Amino acid sequence: MDREWGSKPGSGGAASAQNEAIDRRERLRRLALETIDLAKDPYFMRNHLGSYECKLCLTLHNNEGNYLAHTQGKRHQTNLAKRAAREAKDAPAQPLPHKRTVSLRKSVKIGRPGYRVTKQYDPETKQRSLLFQIEYPEIEDLTKPRHRFMSSYEQKVESFDKRYQYLLFAAEPYETISFKVPSTEIDKSTPKFFSHWDPDSKMFTLQLYFKVKPPETNKPPSAAVTNGTSAPGVPPPPSQAPPPPPPASMGNPPRGPLPPPPPPMGNGPPRPMPPGGNFSAPPPPVGGGMPNFTPRPPIPPPPQGFQGLRPPPPPPQ
Ligand SMILES: [Zn+2]
Repeated sequence: MDREWGSKPGSGGAASAQNEAIDRRERLRRLALETIDLAKDPYFMRNHLGSYECKLCLTLHNNEGNYLAHTQGKRHQTNLAKRAAREAKDAPAQPLPHKRTVSLRKSVKIGRPGYRVTKQYDPETKQRSLLFQIEYPEIEDLTKPRHRFMSSYEQKVESFDKRYQYLLFAAEPYETISFKVPSTEIDKSTPKFFSHWDPDSKMFTLQLYFKVKPPETNKPPSAAVTNGTSAPGVPPPPSQAPPPPPPASMGNPPRGPLPPPPPPMGNGPPRPMPPGGNFSAPPPPVGGGMPNFTPRPPIPPPPQGFQGLRPPPPPPQ
């Protein structure tokens, strides 16, 4: 046998060349004996004649060393490559590396982000505002959190209630969270309405101001402050003593009397929060996140800062 060696260029030439080939073969054999365990070779077989066969190449070998030299040869290596290619083709169930990455991206959520919500009131403009601070320390590299407003009609987690709308925050790999806020129109004309992503502190900040109702329909200032809503024709907030939020609700609706208005914020930046926060016992987030918030009509995912694409709201009447 040993055809692969016999076919080497120059091997049929002078005796010196033959000796050289033998030396090389011997070196390969020793190397193979050191590094290969024949018991684990699926193609090594001892036949009933006491010689050896390669089950892959269907070759006969007089001894183990001869077989091992064969395994280092071109014929055996070529057959190994062909078989590997054939097995890869016949086994499409084997996940490809890029496939695995995609599925990981979709399935692995690491939970809800930490957050703080601060209620604010500007006695000069009589505007109520909310400051959201969402912490995303494990956010995916080079991504930014997104947010969007969703009407009560769009969401499917809770029953429709025109008094409320929802503000959603999303960032991979976190679950999407949502806050239930009054459906009062958001004042997007003021620079105090802003969102900001700080990639260093990994905190997403959004501050929104509610529009003040027209004076003729406004309730007295005291009522506006102590009640959660000043909208005309809207029933008062549910209860003085807030019941535990429903399991599917992380809402932040005004319930009962509001705390005394904080000092006016003016146009300044949001006040820094102390470490750990002093925002006591915020309502738990809505469970499930974005999947449960699938809008009834299919709505394309909002681009970053989507609300900025809308035309400016008409001036209050
Ligand atoms: Zn072989």
